[in-house]
Amino acid sequence: MIMQYIQFIVYTLTIALIINYLRFKVSDILNKWMLVGAILAIVEIEGLLFDFLHTNWILPVFIGISVLCFHAYGAVISACIAWLLLVVQTDESDLFILLIYLIFAAVVYLLSNYISKLQTQSDEWLNKLSENSKQLNVFKEVSTSMQQTLNLKKLLRTILTSVTAGYGLGFNRAMILLIDDSGSKLNGIMGTGPMTVEEGYAVWDRITKNKYKLMDLIEIKETEQSADLLLNERVERLEISLDEPNFLYKTLERGSPLHIKEIDTSDKALLLFAHQFNMSELAVFPLITQGIKVGVLIIDNPVNKRPITANDIDSVIPLANQAAIAIQHTHLYTKIEDMALKDGLTGLFNQRAFQTLLEQHLPVSRQGLLSLILLDIDYFKHFNDTNGHLLGNQVLIQLADVIQHSIQEHDVAFRFGGEEFVVLLPHTNKENAVMVAEQIRSNVENTSFPCGEKQPLGCLTISLGVASSEELGSSTSFDLVDTADQALYKAKESGRNTVVAS
Ligand code: GH3
Ligand code: MG
Ligand code: MG
Repeated sequence: MIMQYIQFIVYTLTIALIINYLRFKVSDILNKWMLVGAILAIVEIEGLLFDFLHTNWILPVFIGISVLCFHAYGAVISACIAWLLLVVQTDESDLFILLIYLIFAAVVYLLSNYISKLQTQSDEWLNKLSENSKQLNVFKEVSTSMQQTLNLKKLLRTILTSVTAGYGLGFNRAMILLIDDSGSKLNGIMGTGPMTVEEGYAVWDRITKNKYKLMDLIEIKETEQSADLLLNERVERLEISLDEPNFLYKTLERGSPLHIKEIDTSDKALLLFAHQFNMSELAVFPLITQGIKVGVLIIDNPVNKRPITANDIDSVIPLANQAAIAIQHTHLYTKIEDMALKDGLTGLFNQRAFQTLLEQHLPVSRQGLLSLILLDIDYFKHFNDTNGHLLGNQVLIQLADVIQHSIQEHDVAFRFGGEEFVVLLPHTNKENAVMVAEQIRSNVENTSFPCGEKQPLGCLTISLGVASSEELGSSTSFDLVDTADQALYKAKESGRNTVVAS
């Protein structure tokens, strides 16, 4: 008898080992069939070893496993097979046992159903919890990053990356449009995400391979000029009027997100988005803070085509609200910076900005080059006395425009004070600075200013002094300005409307 028990244990263990080895190598359904087959084999081995003495007791194990694998069908069929096996192998044909087997199968079925329902519920809660904690994490990282910058481009990149990154909210694509100063239109500013499905998968591959985290991605987008080039080219061309009731106007008016499940062809703006970006389903979030409309955030899933859910929309709302505040802050900061550094009349940088920039450039200019042009309107007192101060102001605005158009991109013009202006020319030697000064002089002479003909020289003119760090050696900002001032004085002395270099 003991030998039979040992044999039974050895056979059972061998079967268990083989099944466990094979189960990870086969499909789910084959795995189930293998398990049911193995239990049946164990039942038979037990029967053969113990002369089918306990078969009616061990068959319920087979029924139980079959129910777990094949649910209701498994319950009915396995109960019947078990009874038939019992009939064939033990000559017992008691229908009462079939009834017991069927009841047993039903109880196992109901119990397993109940347990799996509990399991699904707890899985759902766990999923929800992990989703919420992920959103909280994104929100925390993004709001920290938003608080650290007053640079609009960097801020928008942070917002867009956190909406699209897998470690972020995981949407495929997002773009931001901001309302212009007049408040009558939205301009496309920046987008992130692919234009095609292939591009999307290529980006994801790279992110997964390199295991990029949210902050890595924000940094990459910042340094990689080529990131989302095609998308950004199209986004930057967007100009959507808010004078007509299109989907963006509606979103801003109602002040809450708009979920668009299909494209309404009567909405021209929406049609434009559908064509330009191949959009079929999208969500639009208004960026509004303290009643001030700042812009909109648009998201969609063109790569994996995942439908946008109400949950998805809820997860973006706090981010959109935070983004609106941060964007408004950068607007205000830019305005204050402009007010502090720009001249209210001409829009050029003021003397304070000049001093700051000059200090920044001087250390460089000790090794490189820096030139400066100082210019002053000729007989401007006469102009004011003859034509009035207001027209004099008009001339100052027009002159600023002429100067701005006469210089290159890397040169900077300032209103130095009164009717004096300065041009700072980094990396420019004296010879080239004189050429630029001459260009400004002749452009002014050839521009028609109101009442210019009443000036002593027959038209409105300027005198210019040029100085360069080239000759000053270890120059200070004072040296450079002083030298240019002396050159300007000489220009005035020599009859005005001329350029003199130090
Ligand atoms: P010069 O050719 O020697 O430069 O003669 P000038 O008459 O231009 O002499 P100066 O440069 O000393 O004149 C400065 C004048 O510029 C005095 C003032 O009436 C005028 N001015 C200074 N600031 C402003 C301004 O903001 N608006 C107007 N309209 N005039 C200004
Ligand atoms: Mg002057
Ligand atoms: Mg003057």
